[in-house]
Amino acid sequence: MAKILVIEDNEDLAQVVRTFLIFEHYEVESVFDGREGLQRVKTYEYDLVVLDLGLPDMSGLEILKALRSKGSKTPVLILTGQDAIEEKERGLDAGADDYVTKPFHMKELGARIRAILRRPAPLKDSEILSASGITMDVTKFKVTKDGQSIQLLPREFQLLEFFMRHPNQSFSSEVLISRVWQGGTGETESAQAALRTTMRRLRKKIDPDGALIKTVHGVGYILESAESATAES
Ligand code: CA
Repeated sequence: MAKILVIEDNEDLAQVVRTFLIFEHYEVESVFDGREGLQRVKTYEYDLVVLDLGLPDMSGLEILKALRSKGSKTPVLILTGQDAIEEKERGLDAGADDYVTKPFHMKELGARIRAILRRPAPLKDSEILSASGITMDVTKFKVTKDGQSIQLLPREFQLLEFFMRHPNQSFSSEVLISRVWQGGTGETESAQAALRTTMRRLRKKIDPDGALIKTVHGVGYILESAESATAES
């Protein structure tokens, strides 16, 4: 479940956005002031931040600049006033991923959030993910387990990469299908079957003991990693 932080001082609007995003199956936190928001983004990991630019204590733009100057790549969608074209420009220049103009329809906000979350992470020269003896070189499309090279099919690779990027979080099969393969709602029987097949093959190759990716009954799947838990704390 993607985790979204909403930084918006208008409590009524924040509440409406929050309710909508929860309904859209996101995990949502909201804060009403800028400093608290900045602190949270620095401390915790979010998949996306919805950021109001007009905040009383610290402007959204300052928050955005502070984050980007620290190297944070967390996607940011800004909320701006209707006539503030310069504000939008400044926001995008400062590293926002997109913006929505107030007043907006919740459906538009939802569509823009989905679009941002679908974007692949920016390419780097090399990006290595690791957990419990598994190492993934995401740019070179290589996987090793305890130093031994493992051949994965593209779908298996994408699934493993998703888990490695979100360790210790459980995901339902619907969420996996829509977030890993953008396969729409993920509620079709064929998509579910494809996921089960991919999961079975992936486990066979990298995790025959079922120690890494676990089934959470009634919920979905989780990749358990002590390393990343330590790194996050
Ligand atoms: Ca405001």
